[in-house]
Amino acid sequence: MLIRKIVNIISIIAGILIVTAIGFNKLPWWSLLVLGLLWFFITAYGVTNIRSGYFLKSLSSNPKLTEKKIAITFDDGPDFNTLKILEVLNKYNVKGTFFCIGKQIEKHPDILKKIIQENHIIGNHTFTHDKLIDIYSTNKFTNEIKETDTIIEKFSKKKPLLFRPPYGITNPNIARAVKKTGHTVIGWNKRSFDTTIPSEKVILKRITKNLKGGDVILLHDTKIITVAVLEQLLLFLQRNNFTTVTIDELFSIQAYA
Ligand SMILES: [Zn+2]
Repeated sequence: MLIRKIVNIISIIAGILIVTAIGFNKLPWWSLLVLGLLWFFITAYGVTNIRSGYFLKSLSSNPKLTEKKIAITFDDGPDFNTLKILEVLNKYNVKGTFFCIGKQIEKHPDILKKIIQENHIIGNHTFTHDKLIDIYSTNKFTNEIKETDTIIEKFSKKKPLLFRPPYGITNPNIARAVKKTGHTVIGWNKRSFDTTIPSEKVILKRITKNLKGGDVILLHDTKIITVAVLEQLLLFLQRNNFTTVTIDELFSIQAYA
């Protein structure tokens, strides 16, 4: 957040100097355009990279961890496919962290209950996960989080404290919303691209390449391919002596209030 303020202040000062220099014919007009583009690319990088911490603090991996512990997270459920994911997790006695969408919980309350009963962790992933959610006002985004908290609380009897922004996008409105609701923002450092890559092998390779203790893996419990990838992944983890923990354990934080 501090970096963003420094970038903005430097850009404004540089802008004033450049405009003055242009006024005195010391610089060409397009030098202002170069500055604008530079600012735009830095800001765009901050918006699209949750790990950059440009707009808000997020936990995306725990590099301080010396043990071979990793966390597997599942976004966008609950969904019918979640049941298959739960089966695989059960088979290997592994606990996951599920970032659930409020409207999906409305559709599949029994599946949410099952996730809770089987001692996995539930986090908030907004109510609608709308394609345009990243241009919502602070108030509208705050309501997305609060509504989802309410419905999760209805089933878990506990207020969730973990939040993952859709698409990993962050911006000033989302930063303000999260500050209001008091959630801990959770990112990832191992993106599987299981929603777009059609090959199990390629997805698995993306996740397991250079995997180390403290890593956070992003999967989607809504995808059929993820069921097979998960089984392969859990076998890999077993063979390589990794322990899978939930997000709260990986970062030693509270998952619920
Ligand atoms: Zn999502």
